[in-house]
Amino acid sequence: MKERAYNFNAGPAVLPEEVLREAQENLYSYPGAGMSVMEMSHRSKEYNDIFVGAQNDLRKLLNIGDNYSVLFLQGGATLQFSMIPLNLMPPNNKADYINTGAWSKKAIKEAKRVGIVNVVASSEDTNFNRIPKQNELKLTPDASYVHFTSNNTIMGTEFKTEPEVGNVPLVCDTSSDMLHKKIDVNKYALIYAGAQKNMGPAGATLVIIRNDMLERSSDDLHTYLNYKVHQSKNSLYNTPPAFTVYVIGLVYKWLLNMGGLDVMYKRNLEKADILYSFIDESDGYYKGHAAKEDRSLMNVTFRMPNEDLEKKFVAEALEKGFVGLKGHRSVGGLRASIYNAFPKAGVEALVEFMKDFKAKN
Ligand SMILES: *Cc1c(COP(=O)(O)O)cnc(C)c1O
Repeated sequence: MKERAYNFNAGPAVLPEEVLREAQENLYSYPGAGMSVMEMSHRSKEYNDIFVGAQNDLRKLLNIGDNYSVLFLQGGATLQFSMIPLNLMPPNNKADYINTGAWSKKAIKEAKRVGIVNVVASSEDTNFNRIPKQNELKLTPDASYVHFTSNNTIMGTEFKTEPEVGNVPLVCDTSSDMLHKKIDVNKYALIYAGAQKNMGPAGATLVIIRNDMLERSSDDLHTYLNYKVHQSKNSLYNTPPAFTVYVIGLVYKWLLNMGGLDVMYKRNLEKADILYSFIDESDGYYKGHAAKEDRSLMNVTFRMPNEDLEKKFVAEALEKGFVGLKGHRSVGGLRASIYNAFPKAGVEALVEFMKDFKAKN
């Protein structure tokens, strides 16, 4: 295998090479600090600069206004499945959820512990191969919020635009497509994302919360689970995952250097098109799982004529340096995750391999 494989893993996932090299360069001694970021006090000036720098670069990338707070928490996107209902569901204690896959279901499961959950639309009857249309949503006018999963990592579907929910606060799990294109943050009350798919290493969860939402957080909540506490302490209530936040900050700088999110989006469209076009033109040998209009730009899911061929495909791909192509067990088949940092050359190389495999099998 080459020194670096083509890494199609869904998460943790590929990082930009420039970011890895810079982290490597500074690993032993961060400039001016005389120690690694891993060894620093989270109360030091150096860490503060790293942390505030990351926050500000994210604000630049997404045009985030002063009426929003940017938090870096722990517990993964998974802890947000609980924190969101605990903080935002009261006092009405009812919320709307759109069920588009395994991660939505997990979010729904935790929300049900807190209050009434209305599943306002679901695509479970077709194994989540599509995104429900706007006219399918049976929204509750006085819901505390509406929750949706913008990109379904396992199924390979994505919302092309936000659902329209009127004045009800919109909450979104963007774990696997955060920063793959520009979004209008002003449409949201809360956006969250585990870092390890499209933003950095595992260990930190980004939460962007509109400040008026903080008034809902009750003082009765356990301290760590309270957004108001994290916001008032600027994500330093307890020891933060400093090294992860540092690398996330390097990824934000990389995105800015690349020209920002519009440039990234164009690249992502191009990469996905190379792969989907080939799949569509393979006479049914490769078959996409997701409905065409709902296909994810980040996670390309597809099947082959039978499971034996799929196994053989994964094994031979691995020998060629294509890692992480096995699909999630709930969908089966193959999945190629092609996040921001995944190079176009890797997508082209995969298509060549797929052509060759088809000819031989
Ligand atoms: C991976 C993933 C999660 C879970 O993230 P953790 O950080 O492991 O808790 C949640 N939602 C989506 C959409 C994901 O892809």
